Amino acid sequence: MTAAADFKHSSAPEPHRSRTKQILRAHPEIRSLIGPSQSTFWWTLVVVALQGVVAWFAATSSWWVVFLLSYTIGAFANHGLFVLIHECTHRLVFKRKAPNFITGLIANMPLFFPSIAPFQKYHLKHHAFQGVYELDADVPSLWEAKLIGHSAFGKALWLLFYPFFQALRPMRMKEVQVMQGLEVINLLVQIAVNVAVYYLLGPKALAYLAMSFFFSIGLHPLGARWIQRHYLTGEGEQETFSYYGFLNAVTFNVGYHNEHHDFPSVPWNRLPKIKAAAPEFYQELKSYTSWTRLFFQFLFDRELSLYSRMVRADRNRVGLSDEVRPDLDAIEATRPVAMKAPPMAAREVLGAS
Ligand SMILES: [Zn+2]
Ligand SMILES: [Zn+2]
Repeated sequence: MTAAADFKHSSAPEPHRSRTKQILRAHPEIRSLIGPSQSTFWWTLVVVALQGVVAWFAATSSWWVVFLLSYTIGAFANHGLFVLIHECTHRLVFKRKAPNFITGLIANMPLFFPSIAPFQKYHLKHHAFQGVYELDADVPSLWEAKLIGHSAFGKALWLLFYPFFQALRPMRMKEVQVMQGLEVINLLVQIAVNVAVYYLLGPKALAYLAMSFFFSIGLHPLGARWIQRHYLTGEGEQETFSYYGFLNAVTFNVGYHNEHHDFPSVPWNRLPKIKAAAPEFYQELKSYTSWTRLFFQFLFDRELSLYSRMVRADRNRVGLSDEVRPDLDAIEATRPVAMKAPPMAAREVLGAS
């Protein structure tokens, strides 16, 4: 069989909005899982402190110890901080935007690169425009897919340099402004943190954090989470996949990706409860139990590549600045007309373009 040289195209709208409605109809009790979880703030402090202590230890260790630490503790800790940043992005720590952003800035401190501000902007678009090539930065760029090809070596390089590829994707998102105020704040805070680490702890401590960043994202079994979420590893129309393996215990349940897209207003610690409450909706979907197996499958299966993605042209009448939250929207839609908040109702109409 010849390996694909184009994405798979869908003429259907993204799958989550309709499933959210069905699940809420069948299991209205899931509404009680919606809402921020302030414990995430304390988890953020714990993981940032852990990275501070390990960086301090790494500062006086040999280079191979620095490497080992960053591939093990560092990769998991920084990955955990990305997941916590993701929580802040969806305003799942506090109700208001500002304290979520500040929590995100704190979670960002050991990550070496400024991440919260750009991630926030592009990730919300990923939810609102899943598979829309011009707006979903989770979909690889065509040049990227062509360059990497189908070889194990190419895909390993791609995972190793994943942050660089991801950083270049906004170039194709012509409708989204690249640098805004929050990005500048994020950048300045991060420069200050990195300089402080360098002078207070030393260059090895900073190298430890930078290496942890790369391993947490790329050439590491944890890197398979990128593949798990939206890469098509088989036939069929399913385009979002969950991982239910044991590593969810140390990754703030990041594997529950179908549940997260269906209910982006439910925080990480309550995601397993969605599957437990509505098993009939999730058991029938394809899912994974091993990132390591998927990691090697992706590398060595020549039919899998960066083209193994579903794309669509249909924006489903969503406006560019809309924050799509299918769970809240579905609940809003079932409320009596007199109780509806005008901005939400208006958004449905104004967002249609
Ligand atoms: Zn999300
Ligand atoms: Zn996703």
